[in-house]
Amino acid sequence: MHLGPQYASLNDRGFIRRYGARCYCGAVAYEVCADPVDAKVCHCRDCQTLHAAPMQWAAIFHKRDVRFTAGVDHLRFYNSARNRYERSLPCKVSCELCGTPIADEGRNMWLGFPTLFDFGDPRQVPDAFRPTCHIFYGMRVIDVIDGLPKWSGHKEQSTLLQERRT
Ligand SMILES: [Zn+2]
Ligand SMILES: [Zn+2]
Repeated sequence: MHLGPQYASLNDRGFIRRYGARCYCGAVAYEVCADPVDAKVCHCRDCQTLHAAPMQWAAIFHKRDVRFTAGVDHLRFYNSARNRYERSLPCKVSCELCGTPIADEGRNMWLGFPTLFDFGDPRQVPDAFRPTCHIFYGMRVIDVIDGLPKWSGHKEQSTLLQERRT
């Protein structure tokens, strides 16, 4: 199985690995040849539930800069908006073996989760992966004090919220 022609393939000679990412068990692995175009933190309730975490940190890549090196057949797809266990975009992507969330697959973009990347030990997060804003901060369960813009809903389509509770 292949994720489709939007993605880079193992035959692409121009593809030079920049970073790699893998799930917890290692069955699923992919690599990217470019920095993300943006990164953000989402506090929406869907992300809280689907990640069993207070927020989701995602780095956005063009699909052409992404290619799988292992485990495409172990990917599980779930369309949360339609509650369908299928790969209808946009959808959630996880490892069917260990359950690690891998990415949100959009129609054109790949929203990878930076905590899966090989940033060394101890981890040195490249600047390009650092979030530029928080979205759906109005649904937060934890306050964040980091000086970044905090949108109540979608970026630039909602109101900016103050960092600290009054
Ligand atoms: Zn796994
Ligand atoms: Zn979200």
